[in-house]
Amino acid sequence: MQFQNIIRVIPDFPAEGISFKDITTLLKDGPAFRQAVDCLAAEFAGQHIDLVAGPEARGFVIGAPMAYALGAGFVPIRKPGKLPAAVLHHEYSLEYGVDALEIHQDAILPGQKVLIVDDLLATGGTTKAVISMVEQLGGEVVGLGFLIELLFLHGRTGLDNYKVKSLVQY
Ligand code: IMP
Repeated sequence: MQFQNIIRVIPDFPAEGISFKDITTLLKDGPAFRQAVDCLAAEFAGQHIDLVAGPEARGFVIGAPMAYALGAGFVPIRKPGKLPAAVLHHEYSLEYGVDALEIHQDAILPGQKVLIVDDLLATGGTTKAVISMVEQLGGEVVGLGFLIELLFLHGRTGLDNYKVKSLVQY
């Protein structure tokens, strides 16, 4: 299946000059959604993954069915103030300013094998933040899976030690 034909591209969103990859057109296509999840899950099959961790919000949409397909649990990584139990709070720099994510402190047990999933790899800032959080809790990051990778932003730089897979590249 040509997933690239099903992903809609919106020019100048959310700001001028940004070509936004809109996956809602893929998500509403049942056979395409299933095949995208199955293809990405197949890249990590047989790795005895305990947990899939996905950042809010599109990381939930792709990460949860990936976890189901792999027979793994799912760990949500959320914007500050959303998780009810004790959290690990992690701040990371953006091009302009800082952002923060949180994970429950007891979400991952030391030594558990964790696959990180998000809809899109751009600069890699979000993914590197999630890797840091998973590793601070003692998890072993066994892979990084994305529907989309924006090659021109070189998000893989610094991720050489990890198995990175994406279904569609721009
Ligand atoms: P990064 O941290 O620069 O790698 O950006 C990745 C994050 O930004 C992911 O969580 C994506 O959901 C979001 N993102 C960046 N660009 C796009 C886009 O074109 N479409 C959808 N999400 C995007």
